Amino acid sequence: MCNDDGVGAPGLQAMVEALSGLGEIWVVAPDRDRSGTGHAITVHQPVEVRETRLPGAERAFTVQGTPADCVKLAVLELMGQAPDLVAAGINAGSNLGIDVIYSGTVAAAAEGALLRARAIAVSAVTDKSNPRLAAAQAVARFLAEWVLTGGLLPGVFLNVNVPDRALQPLEQLTWTRLGLNRRYRDEYVRLPAQEGRDENGRYLFWLTGDADDGDLHDPSTDAGAVHRGRVSVTPVHLDLTDHQALARWAAAPGTLWLRGFRAAWDARALG
Ligand code: MN
Repeated sequence: MCNDDGVGAPGLQAMVEALSGLGEIWVVAPDRDRSGTGHAITVHQPVEVRETRLPGAERAFTVQGTPADCVKLAVLELMGQAPDLVAAGINAGSNLGIDVIYSGTVAAAAEGALLRARAIAVSAVTDKSNPRLAAAQAVARFLAEWVLTGGLLPGVFLNVNVPDRALQPLEQLTWTRLGLNRRYRDEYVRLPAQEGRDENGRYLFWLTGDADDGDLHDPSTDAGAVHRGRVSVTPVHLDLTDHQALARWAAAPGTLWLRGFRAAWDARALG
């Protein structure tokens, strides 16, 4: 079990409670909030690990590293084997559409899938300062049981988003696709306000900006489902290959593109 909000996150404790009794629970989590670190791993310095205690967990470790570090360490060293289930979350805040690229929560589940474990990432669409997690707990429990009884293909993990207002969360489960028309209106705020430099002459930029309402009205997307108060369940795999483009280009040997390359190569050899 992992949580990119850090080992002290209420969502981590909520996940432990939600999955209690399903098996032996091991927690391996970053020592602080590592949201937005994506699938980063620590390679330029050693990773520091401390054992700690967490109510409901058989063993618990804090890692001075990223969520992907945590899952890698858990499987390869701390547990010495892949667990029956890698559960990431419950994240305070949604992970919809392109968020899966930036999310540490999703990366933890993705790392699990890469290591051939079954994995789910659960995010609560809720106020981060006062997260309401009960609906997400019910969903996490249900999906964990479903996954543990074989309801998941190898290499595929589930990205789950639960609106906190889902009153009957299990009746609201909806299979969705990632809504990639949901775009961020990214904006850098210069800090401090005085000419954008601090006393040391450094520029300070703070990334802000909300997502737009792209895909909000398409219920087949994760964002659209959540917008309707439904629980979004997206099967995700890490094959980023564009299979349409591959089929189009790879099936046509001797295309103009290839001939152009050969002509350029020949010209170079002659020159
Ligand atoms: Mn997070």
